[in-house]
Amino acid sequence: MDTTDKPVVKPVDFIRQIIAEDLKSGKHRTTITRFPPEPNGFLHIGHAKSICLNFGIALENGGVCHMRFDDTNPSKEEVAYVESIIRDVRWLGFDWGDKLFYASDYFPALYDYAVELIKLGKAYVCQLSTEEIRQYRGTLTEPGKESPYRNRSVEENLDLFARMRNGEFDEGSHVLRAKIDMASPNLNMRDPVIFRILKVPHHRTGDTWCIYPMYDYTHCLSDAIEGITHSLCTLEFEDHRPLYDWVLDTLRTPCHPQQIEFARLNLTFTVMSKRKLLQLVKEGYVDGWDDPRMLTISGLRRRGYTPASIRSFCDVIGLGKKESWIDMTVLENAVRDDLNVNAPRAMCVLDPVKVIIDNYPEGQVEEMEAMNHPQNPEMGSRMLPFSRELFIERSDFMENPPSKFHRLGPGREVRLRYGYLVTCTSFVKDEDGIIQEIHCTYDPASRGGSAPDGRKVKGTIHWVSATHALPCRVRLYDRLFLVENPEADRETSFKQHLNPHSRVVIEGAMAEPALVGIAPGAQVQFERQGFFCADSVDSRPGQPVFNRIVTLRDTWAKEQQKDT
Ligand code: ATP
Ligand code: MG
Repeated sequence: MDTTDKPVVKPVDFIRQIIAEDLKSGKHRTTITRFPPEPNGFLHIGHAKSICLNFGIALENGGVCHMRFDDTNPSKEEVAYVESIIRDVRWLGFDWGDKLFYASDYFPALYDYAVELIKLGKAYVCQLSTEEIRQYRGTLTEPGKESPYRNRSVEENLDLFARMRNGEFDEGSHVLRAKIDMASPNLNMRDPVIFRILKVPHHRTGDTWCIYPMYDYTHCLSDAIEGITHSLCTLEFEDHRPLYDWVLDTLRTPCHPQQIEFARLNLTFTVMSKRKLLQLVKEGYVDGWDDPRMLTISGLRRRGYTPASIRSFCDVIGLGKKESWIDMTVLENAVRDDLNVNAPRAMCVLDPVKVIIDNYPEGQVEEMEAMNHPQNPEMGSRMLPFSRELFIERSDFMENPPSKFHRLGPGREVRLRYGYLVTCTSFVKDEDGIIQEIHCTYDPASRGGSAPDGRKVKGTIHWVSATHALPCRVRLYDRLFLVENPEADRETSFKQHLNPHSRVVIEGAMAEPALVGIAPGAQVQFERQGFFCADSVDSRPGQPVFNRIVTLRDTWAKEQQKDT
């Protein structure tokens, strides 16, 4: 695992406390957790919280965390999703050794357990339709009604269940239900369906099965089969815990893991459910699951987030028992903090305008030394070619600058970072009034950027040599949604809150030539602009495409204040 050098001191949350007590009291000698994704979509930042928790706890306690695919619904699951999940968890830095499991591996065992439940008089085959089952279930205030099929004999149930399995019945015509309590205040205990007929081939078991176990029934038994000690899940499963325990108690499994619930991650300015992310992908609002604006792990990776920044985010947000919202800024700060320390610096002019230094010898090129990281000399330096014609940022020049503008304007002097001090002498406009070129003179005695006479030059701007610059495409990414909670209003679709400017593509940016060799996926700080990443899909040798990961500061908070 690629850990950062400094040890992470984790606050002791309530789950870690329980686990520590269980180890101390001797209830458990080891800690075995699991991460159980359903392969019906890509993992998102919410899953990262669960991954860091489950794998983190196992690591801290010398235990193991199992990777288990909860693949019980073949109509929505795909091998491509399995592969993406494996890639994403590995990339986050976690390792499950040989503990890779699939709930589908347990189909035979789950079938046998169901037969046992029938023999115990604790399960029955029901022929009510889905709609009737729903009606019979009752509501939070009314008890349910017992199915007319509830009191079938064990023999009849065994026969019908075997015939379900043999494909004799149509989908929806028969289900196997646990026989618990139709009057239970907990709806999950009102004879839940535990097996259904689905005549759909499975990506692992093919046509072997035409009945598939339901999630609640599968989950507890998979945990028990694997000897999980603590089964950590999100709060919405709290009401399912009695069923989890009922199945294991009734079947007297040798292992009975403890289910503990924690609050899921809710993040502002995004949607998190796989169903909604899938809609964005299918309906073309984004370029795919790994679109750099998506809060999927693959999207974050492509955007330029580092695994360490995501792990650090998960540490910072902590773990609680109450639903809460985390501000997107917290995630953005996590990557900012990481890259501020670790990303090399470079210069790139996003909106270039030409500067001609009239007193600089034509044809002359000087190599100027630039630090790769001003606070960390160990990151070394690189050479920047300096010549008579440069590009600077259009916004770094003003024809009539106010006195507080410390950049370039007629008669004003500015420092070119790692270059020289230059003074603007004139400028040229086209018919439309757009500035075409800026003429300057330079002070030959100011090489490196300091004035020989100690005169004060406040502004420092970035630049690239016009003849040496690397033209490149830069994509400025911003939040995908304009509002904190795109799902707040049930009447309007979350898609109405999409940010139309979440991606602005700049074709003619000019980067310093050293960036020609940047590795796809590598991060860099463009000085004064933000943190960027060479796109891992669209970059070509010698032709990087840059994604903006985040700005240097949290400009969002400020802009929002301005808007309101
Ligand atoms: P979604 O609701 O986004 O479709 P899911 O819960 O259906 O997600 P699973 O593949 O079943 O997705 O989730 C695998 C694990 O990740 C589960 O243990 C689940 O509790 C956890 N998980 C999912 N979303 C979050 C979240 N937002 N915060 C924390 N844990 C989460
Ligand atoms: Mg789920």
